[in-house]
This record gives sequence, C-alpha cells and structure tokens, in this order.
Amino acid sequence: MKINLANIKKAKKYLKIDECIAIPTETVYGIAGNAYSDRACKKIFKLKKRPKNNPLIVHYYDYNNLKKDCSYNNAFIKIYKKFCPGPITFILDLKKKSKISKFVTNKKNTLAVRFPKHTITRNLLKKLKFPLAAPSANLSKRVSAVCSSDVKDDFGKKIKYVLEGGKSSIGIESTILDLRKKPQILRLGGLDVSTIQKVLNKKIKVNNNPLRISVPGQFKLHYSPGVPIRLNVKKIRENEAYILIKKKKVTKLNYYFLSKKGNLQEAAKNLYSTLRKIKKDKYKAIAVCKIPNKGLGKTINDRLVRASKF
Ligand code: AMP
Ligand code: MG
Repeated sequence: MKINLANIKKAKKYLKIDECIAIPTETVYGIAGNAYSDRACKKIFKLKKRPKNNPLIVHYYDYNNLKKDCSYNNAFIKIYKKFCPGPITFILDLKKKSKISKFVTNKKNTLAVRFPKHTITRNLLKKLKFPLAAPSANLSKRVSAVCSSDVKDDFGKKIKYVLEGGKSSIGIESTILDLRKKPQILRLGGLDVSTIQKVLNKKIKVNNNPLRISVPGQFKLHYSPGVPIRLNVKKIRENEAYILIKKKKVTKLNYYFLSKKGNLQEAAKNLYSTLRKIKKDKYKAIAVCKIPNKGLGKTINDRLVRASKF
C-alpha cells in the first residue's frame, strides 16, 4: 500500500501527546500508544476494557531500538534475522533501567516485543523516539480487527485516529515465542511453528492449550464474535451460518468460504473478517467444518476453539 506521509504525520502528532490511535500491521490492527508513557498505556487498557493483568506487546522498528529496554540471547538473534520484521513476538527480560511503563507489563520483569512488517507502521515507528505498546484493536475478548472499518465498528469515536493501511495481509495475531530458556510457544499465530523449529534446529514446546489458563492472555473466552460456534460440523442445523474451508460447487446464501481452494494461509487471513461478516448478517449461530490441523490450520483451530467457548 502507498505511504501517505500526511497521515503518518498526523499519527505521530497524536502519539506525541499521549493519545492512542489505531495502527495497521500485517497480523491485525493495533491500538497504539507511547510505551514509555504511563498516561498513554493506561488509556489503552481503558479503551479496550482489557484486564490490567494482561500485558501488552511493544512494537519496535528494529532491534537497535530495543537494546536499552531488553536483554537477549543468540537464539533471539537467529530467529530475529530470519523472520523479522514479521508475525512473531518474543518474550524477553526487561532491563532494570528500561523506560517501559509499568502498566505495559503489569510490573512483570519480562516484555513481549515485536517488529511489525507493515510498511506504513514501519515508517511511523522509524520516525518516533519511543516504541509503541499496541494490543489488538478490538474490545477485550472479541474478534481482532483486520481493517480500519473493523476498528471503527468496535470503538466508534472513542478512538482519536485510525491510520489507514488496508486489509491485514496475515489476518491473525503473531506467534508468541519465549526463547529465554528452553524455547516455548505461548500462543500459536501467523508464523508456523515448524518453520521456527527448522531454524532453531530443535523441537519447540507448544504451551498453548486453549482450555487451560497458564500464562496471562491464554484466556478461555477470547476471539468471540458474540455468536455461538459449533466446530467440526458435517451437517448444519437450520438457520446456522456455515463456515467452510474451500469453495463448493453448489453454494448457498448461508455458506461462507475461508479460501477458494482450501489454502490455510488464505483461510487464516479471512477468518476474522468472515466471523464479523456473519455477525453483521445477523445469524444467531455458526457451524464450522473440520479445519486440517496442520500449519496455520493449528492457529485457526486454536482461535475457533476459544471463540466457541462463548
Ligand atoms: P494482543 O496484543 O491483544 O494480541 O495480546 C498480547 C498477548 O501477549 C497476550 O496474550 C498477552 O498475555 C501476551 N503477553 C504480553 N506480554 C507478555 C509477557 N511478558 N509474558 C507472557 N505473555 C505476554
Ligand atoms: Mg488480542
């Protein structure tokens, strides 16, 4: 997408006075504020109605900017060089001297950091003297926003400015990786675990059981469109919207396809917009076909299981 410098200037103006704005990223849109400012970070929690104990991800332009806030090891450098900027979040040790607001971490001594790839947000980050704390731009527990109109649907005039960046190209949140000791995935996401494993050349434990709350943010009820969802459905009930992984020859009004040919990347990209569309089309129940549990299909299934606990 073409960069509109006037928009970036406007975004910067708001951020410098501790206002929160929405920013586009390749995963999902974020509600961003100055990560060094208590005032800005408090506003993020309030806007999202997010519980204080669910820490925020901080977005940096590159790892040179991160050095004063966090320490890191060789495994981080390896993965950073291969996948950043991109859909991966690292849990790192926070330095004592770091200026990161205590509201970001809920006074923890670790910090979740990410380097988004979206060109518009990268351009903005490069111009700022501070990193951006930015959780997904949706109301707490609801489906993430993947375009500017999703953000406006959730927040209306409460959000001062939405930096336009088109539809998110990945459409699902980042993969969260803790490399401080034994590598561990804390949340499945837009980067497939097997690709990370290949680079590290070792097996990574996935600690992402959607039905257990073990680390902050692994809440059961999450990503919900506000409509009950049934999974692995072969035969739908009357009045249900039916989500299918690939196009069928015969289509019906209540059929929603995540991908033309069953491509899991395309399906992940369309998942949240499809859930939002079904809600707008006023269906009161959703049935989803079986989604292959491999690659990004694992992330899709993780989100659907959580959403189905509504
Ligand atoms: P969101 O930005 O809304 O997609 O959510 C950010 C996710 O990152 C949440 O699941 C948080 O619990 C998780 N997170 C943020 N900081 C940390 C941390 N220091 N340790 C573990 N998880 C974290
Ligand atoms: Mg979120």
